[in-house]
Amino acid sequence: MHVNSPRTKRLNDEIRSCIKCRLSQTRHNALCGEGSLQARLLLIAQAPGKIEDVEGRMFIGPSGKVLDDLLDAAGVKRDEIYMTNLVKCILPKFRRPREDEIAACSTYLEKEIELIRPDVLVPLGFFATRYILDTRGVERPQSKAEFPQVFGRLHLAGGKRIYPLTHPRPCSTTGRAGRACRQPTASWACSPVSAGGSRYVP
Ligand code: SF4
Repeated sequence: MHVNSPRTKRLNDEIRSCIKCRLSQTRHNALCGEGSLQARLLLIAQAPGKIEDVEGRMFIGPSGKVLDDLLDAAGVKRDEIYMTNLVKCILPKFRRPREDEIAACSTYLEKEIELIRPDVLVPLGFFATRYILDTRGVERPQSKAEFPQVFGRLHLAGGKRIYPLTHPRPCSTTGRAGRACRQPTASWACSPVSAGGSRYVP
């Protein structure tokens, strides 16, 4: 987090020293969120990548480059938004997060949401999206195969806009997977991602 307040400093200190789950044994850094404490938009990724884990910064690897391009297309600067992860420590061999890890770590995400009070939540990818939709009481498909239908669609719940998107990481790959995921993320340019700064018109 670039900008600090006593409450965010306390939270970030707690995250950095956290040993609540097994992922603390395999990480270099537990990643705190970064961005503006006044952000109206909160991006929620799944977990840190390899470079992010070593450097202790959000979105600085290949997915960060893709993210920058997408934000550029939406006319939004990184420091206008706030970015964090559902799970703050890297997942060994990039496996899926386990339910007990999500349960342990999501308490930090909820505290970040409480501190930042964004208008728009943008969960990236399946796990972050499933968590946000379930905890906000939004109906969702039961099977993962049907999940693409929730990406790129706006949901309203608890006074917040929820706009799930595919994670930018696979978009940095070439081939079929990369092509498939570029399509929905193209909608970033005209999506509530543009709500990150003062240009947001509800
Ligand atoms: S993943 Fe979250 S709960 Fe688990 S050790 Fe890291 S910071 Fe703590």
